Amino acid sequence: MVVQEKIIKNVCLTAHPLGCREYVKKEIDFVKKAKKGDMGELYQPISEQKKNVLVLGCSTGYGLSSRIVSAFGFKNNTIGVSFERAPNGKRTASPGWYNNKVFDELAEKENIYSKTLNGDAFSSEMKKEVVDLIKKDLGKIDLVIYSVASPMRIDPVTKETYKSVLKTTKAEYTNFNVDLKTEVINKVSLEKATEKQIQDTIKVMGSEDWKLWIQALLENDCLNNNCQTIAYSYIGPKLTYPIYREGTIGRAKKDLENGVSFIDEQLKKLNGKAYVSVNKALVTRASAVIPIVPLYIALLYKVMKDNNVHENCIEQVYRLFSDKLPNSKVDEKGRIRLDDFEMRDDIQCEVEKLWKTLIEGEKLGVGDLQSFKRDYSHLHGFGYKNIDYSKDVDLERP
Ligand code: NAD
Repeated sequence: MVVQEKIIKNVCLTAHPLGCREYVKKEIDFVKKAKKGDMGELYQPISEQKKNVLVLGCSTGYGLSSRIVSAFGFKNNTIGVSFERAPNGKRTASPGWYNNKVFDELAEKENIYSKTLNGDAFSSEMKKEVVDLIKKDLGKIDLVIYSVASPMRIDPVTKETYKSVLKTTKAEYTNFNVDLKTEVINKVSLEKATEKQIQDTIKVMGSEDWKLWIQALLENDCLNNNCQTIAYSYIGPKLTYPIYREGTIGRAKKDLENGVSFIDEQLKKLNGKAYVSVNKALVTRASAVIPIVPLYIALLYKVMKDNNVHENCIEQVYRLFSDKLPNSKVDEKGRIRLDDFEMRDDIQCEVEKLWKTLIEGEKLGVGDLQSFKRDYSHLHGFGYKNIDYSKDVDLERP
């Protein structure tokens, strides 16, 4: 079947199997080059160290990059969990489904252990399945990456469904947004969330499930001495505070960050450690649907590129694993800051200057929306020059 990119309301509904292969291969190539010292000063060579890594939310974005750096950088054994859609008749799979297949295939070629489980990470059944697999194949885990981003969660005990919302927690808020199709600047207003919506968003994206995972792994003796766990968070600049840091999602992220001390306490007997890593704003399937954020990212990309500090997920995670984590580089609150370049005063000052030039109804003339769009296409396997998108592809085989 010929697969074309189909975007509706900033959401891409299709994925190209061969393009997803390209995406995964490019991330692996980066890691291999960086490992040899070919990617510059920021990305120092790393040496192999046999460890067992569990990546929750492994199929796209930060989770996929975490798995790739672990496996193809350190030659670690990885178990990945994600919730992806398989192809169905004429419907393509979700990109993560293809990414997982390619990852497993390329890992096998290099004799690197990898097993990928597709299902709901929030469920008790998935936790049991992972525990059984660890016991059967790996014994114990040294590093748990928590990179799940989901709009909903079914409570594993009550079976009640919780939905997260993207709203403010203070007054209604209006600011600029961009239509990715027409590239015209418009305005978006965000309602104030109800207390229930805030609590529901915390239930979905807060620390509860991360804690449950660590609990399940501990109870079943699946964690090694000196094990570590990292969950990913975002803070961002004042400009996006009303929608992000001070919005419903920010409240969930604060809860996630507060979960660190609880998990740390649980891991003490193993001399283990929990971290939150605050990462840079990047185009991923999760971030593209947050109002205002794509416009901010488009401006940020331009400024960061002009200053030679732009990074994608793979560069971010490589820096996490090669520098921040081994050298325990944390801020005054104990958080790893991969958003260090994004939050630099000179970078934010330039972004603010660009933001002030925006005019509603005009086509976006500043920033780097083309990179945002290209990266978004790449996430779904589109926009690669070496792929002939007019050719038939097998939807089952990336
Ligand atoms: P993403 O959408 O690319 O990845 C989300 C992952 O979660 C996918 O692997 C998906 O399959 C998995 N997932 C979703 N629901 C699941 C479920 N029920 N069970 C199992 N797996 C499930 O998202 P991302 O942007 O890489 O986000 C990952 C983390 O990084 C999030 O915590 C996010 O807040 C954080 N983060 C993102 C950014 C950004 O700009 N994208 C910045 C900083 C931090």
